[in-house]
Amino acid sequence: RAAEAGLYTSSDQIILLTPENVEAVLVNSTAATVVEFYASWCGHCRMFSPVYRGLAIDIKEWKPAVDLAAIDCAEAVNRKVCIDYGISGYPTIKFFHAYTKADSNGLPFKGFIRDVRGLRHKIIDKLEAHVPWPPACPPLEPTSEAELDSFFETNNVQHLALIFEEASSYIGRELTLDLLQFDNIAVRRVLSTEEGLVTKLGVTEFPSCFLYYPGGNFSRLKVKEEARTFYSYALQRLPGVVRSGKPPPVATDVLSNSTEDPWRPFNSSRVYMLDLESTLHYSLRVEVAAHTIIRGETLISLKKYVAVLAKFFPGRPVVMNLLKSLSSWLQNQSGDEISYEAFKEIVDNSAQSPDMALPEGERWVGCQGSQPQFRRFPCGLWTLFHVLTVQAKKVGSSDPQEVLTAMRNYVHSFFGCRPCAEHFENMASEGLAMMNTSSLAVLWLWAKHNHVNNRLAGALTEDPNFPKIQWPSPEMCPSCHAVQENGDHRWSQETVLPFLMSYFSSDSILTDYLE
Ligand code: FAD
Repeated sequence: RAAEAGLYTSSDQIILLTPENVEAVLVNSTAATVVEFYASWCGHCRMFSPVYRGLAIDIKEWKPAVDLAAIDCAEAVNRKVCIDYGISGYPTIKFFHAYTKADSNGLPFKGFIRDVRGLRHKIIDKLEAHVPWPPACPPLEPTSEAELDSFFETNNVQHLALIFEEASSYIGRELTLDLLQFDNIAVRRVLSTEEGLVTKLGVTEFPSCFLYYPGGNFSRLKVKEEARTFYSYALQRLPGVVRSGKPPPVATDVLSNSTEDPWRPFNSSRVYMLDLESTLHYSLRVEVAAHTIIRGETLISLKKYVAVLAKFFPGRPVVMNLLKSLSSWLQNQSGDEISYEAFKEIVDNSAQSPDMALPEGERWVGCQGSQPQFRRFPCGLWTLFHVLTVQAKKVGSSDPQEVLTAMRNYVHSFFGCRPCAEHFENMASEGLAMMNTSSLAVLWLWAKHNHVNNRLAGALTEDPNFPKIQWPSPEMCPSCHAVQENGDHRWSQETVLPFLMSYFSSDSILTDYLE
């Protein structure tokens, strides 16, 4: 709890150190650990915290080899830990190599590095300079023609990616770590001075990436930009490459037999109205139904949620009539509480008014999962709110935060996944209030959804058929992706916004499978 009061939260992918866990995390660990010792009152630490959070997102895939941690030395309970590690100024960043001994104070990062790229490079320098080597960390040194000759005899992989680069470039080593949690692929760097290989493959561009196969066959990896993120995305999606420990994706004709529902073929780059209606059904008839009496802030959340649906849901006329009637009924409830039973009478149109209905049941299309426990309602809920933020921008809402606030309140009051609700509230409390235009609201939800995707990539809840990616992929929207001058990936927000406006627009929603 003490650590939660500091600059980082449990949703930041940073281990929050406490006197109780510090030894388990830092001593004799199989991974190296980078620790930021900070004080929550220190202005520099506050300014640095978005960079450290960004680093955690950036090197999430490196976790088995190198993990990130932080500790708030301003917390009285943590003070002894910080003193024991010899901390006298903030922020101090230290590197603890794998199998660090109990009496080690860690190795300080010299100088104050203020950007993700610089920190990432420093971590690689430290990894390379210190033994013992974390067992999960593949070799980072450059490969040679001689090593390649026997590579496939000693490494059981389908693909070998060779990154040709200058000696000063870190891309090859970064990609080796980026792919560390994926099976059937290995990455090696080849220096531009390795003449034999450079000539054999006809390499003229540094960096560039080639796929190398037994027998000496090779092909150049096609990417939009010769940069780390583009290589990483393309390599993770090569045939046969799967996240370690995950089963390979299943063909969709097999899927039809694994769920009770018949499999509905769909286009994974489109939004389906049936998913949105199934989401409304589930939220109004299942999630809200968990509250027999709805009162106080829960009632306010429900009123706001339904009001936003009535205003912005781009539904069929029968559904819209129902939502509008439900919203006006709710707004007329002036008491402190309502019963779910009374609410349900309106949802089910018990008075049987013609021309209004909310179809019952869940029938997923774009949100189908390869197993019944995957995707479905949470997928539908994200999709619904993306559609609503986009629609609010299109029709012009007077309050740019209206949809996001309704979502925040809905998730807080009703979303059945409580840890999800807690994580989402952490994110919402950080920046939602600053979204003062409807464009920013659309982009905020997109960025936060990607933040969640990053955290959940590879988690148990991930459907192997639908791996979590930073969305949209370079295939879906090539111009959404760009590179900064330093070679790091950059979203082109001026392209992402129109992409989202079109992708989630009412005109693009498919009505397949609706009855
Ligand atoms: P989803 O992430 O549900 O995405 C649905 C669809 O939206 C995708 O298929 C894609 O077409 C599109 N999409 C993907 N990314 C973006 C983006 N950045 N912008 C716009 N569209 C996008 N699960 C947990 O295990 N832990 C959590 O803490 C957690 N928190 C959640 C918080 C909220 C508010 C919600 C709604 C869900 C949360 N979930 C959490 C569930 C999780 O995010 C996924 O919804 C679920 O795992 C199903 O994933 P999916 O593959 O169907 O894709």
